[in-house]
Amino acid sequence: MTEKLIIIGSGPAGHTAAIYAARAELKPLLFEGRVPGGQLMLTTEVENYPGFPSGLMGPEMMEQFKKQSERFGTRMIADDVVHVDFSVHPFVVKTADQTYLSESVIVATGATAMWLNIPGEKEYGGRGVSACATCDGFFFKGKKIIVVGGGDSAMEEATFLTRFAETVTVIVRKEELRASKIMQERARNNPKIEFRWNSEIREITGDGKKVTGVKVFNNKTNETVDHPTEGVFMAIGHTPNTSLFKGILDFDAKGYLKTAPGSTKTNIEGIFAAGDVADHYYRQAVTAAGTGCMAAIDAERWLAGRE
Ligand code: NDP
Repeated sequence: MTEKLIIIGSGPAGHTAAIYAARAELKPLLFEGRVPGGQLMLTTEVENYPGFPSGLMGPEMMEQFKKQSERFGTRMIADDVVHVDFSVHPFVVKTADQTYLSESVIVATGATAMWLNIPGEKEYGGRGVSACATCDGFFFKGKKIIVVGGGDSAMEEATFLTRFAETVTVIVRKEELRASKIMQERARNNPKIEFRWNSEIREITGDGKKVTGVKVFNNKTNETVDHPTEGVFMAIGHTPNTSLFKGILDFDAKGYLKTAPGSTKTNIEGIFAAGDVADHYYRQAVTAAGTGCMAAIDAERWLAGRE
């Protein structure tokens, strides 16, 4: 059987594409991945998605997205796509144990949190080192912890973590924050949050069981000091999930999928890209949803043009 449309990814882009495609009667098949829902699953409160004036939790929002996709008949497979072949038509999409064929594909595989790749980081992963405040914050009640990064994610995580932690030290490699003014203000005005500027974590140390501290290098004074802490939260940005498409689709200078200006068309006709996998700049739930909608419309028109 050949599908009309396969969607790879289950964040706001994938689900919005599914909602639009299902309503256009394309009967989309959506691969959710083994860890469905995308980055909003790791977020706390989403306050900037229009239509939700009181905000809502990221995972709850993704549940609503999924329900809406299902309501219009999207079929979902909770498995990872491990291989694609876009050099033949119908296109080939494979999971570990099944092969699927489709006339068109929307790639909405999103992006993943970045790590520092320093000693101790892997060793103490899940034992004090985390990239998800929502998931792990609760375990740091009354503790002194660290957040690494100077963007909106770092401010959001630091602010959220003050619910549990005694103090939160934000380690910033420059002398300024990249975060938006409103998020900066919130963090700066929080008495539990302090900032360490010009600072880089060089090593995470522990007692073999859990984190006990970090070595912080000051890039202005060239001094390294030991900073005791029980938790280290990374919030240093993301990389796009593009490994499936290396050598197949075109990438931009930052390694994100390249689309034709003002559309979701990739370099291969019938393959479309939406959401953070093709957007290093905006990276918002609402822009991902917007490009997901565009991709469904692009796919629908492309399919109609072939009939
Ligand atoms: P950003 O890329 O915006 O910021 C990453 C931060 O981490 C920067 O301060 C960067 O430093 C720092 N960094 C990167 N690599 C390293 C490293 N190796 N060592 C130390 N520090 C490092 O990522 P975010 O995840 O914060 O935000 C991504 C996007 O999502 C943004 O567009 C943001 O606005 C949005 N967002 C919005 C939220 C909201 O509105 N509620 C919440 C969270 C994110 P430097 O500045 O020196 O490069």
